[in-house]
Amino acid sequence: MAYAYDDQNIFAKILRGEIPNKTVLETEHSLAFLDIYPQAPIHILVIPKGAYVCFDHFAQEASDAEIIDYTRAVGEVCKMQGVEEGGWRLIANAGEAAIQDVPHLHVHILAGRPLGPMLPKV
Ligand code: AMP
Repeated sequence: MAYAYDDQNIFAKILRGEIPNKTVLETEHSLAFLDIYPQAPIHILVIPKGAYVCFDHFAQEASDAEIIDYTRAVGEVCKMQGVEEGGWRLIANAGEAAIQDVPHLHVHILAGRPLGPMLPKV
């Protein structure tokens, strides 16, 4: 099934400058900004500027330049925030099972407190 991108999602609006954000890093193909409802002392979202719904969509269809830029942007944010000290977590929710709220690829960078187990036990 091909992914269909809805350009009315909130991160598309951020990329178009229609709503504000607290930018941490901007590169040619990526934007990193503070999560509006932080769940840890460090909670930053990194998004590609291209129209990708989720990580597998991006990994399958983005150009090499976009993928390199995005991966390096995550690395740069981690370096800026010093997350290697104490550890951190990268989360990319996709679709219904993962309760992805915003249908534009974003990874969450979380750090600054103990983050608990990867998933709650069922
Ligand atoms: P997800 O459930 O993985 O789709 O996460 C979406 C994230 O986007 C949540 O952590 C929200 O707090 C965050 N969020 C929603 N609207 C905004 C916004 N305008 N600026 C920054 N973060 C936002």
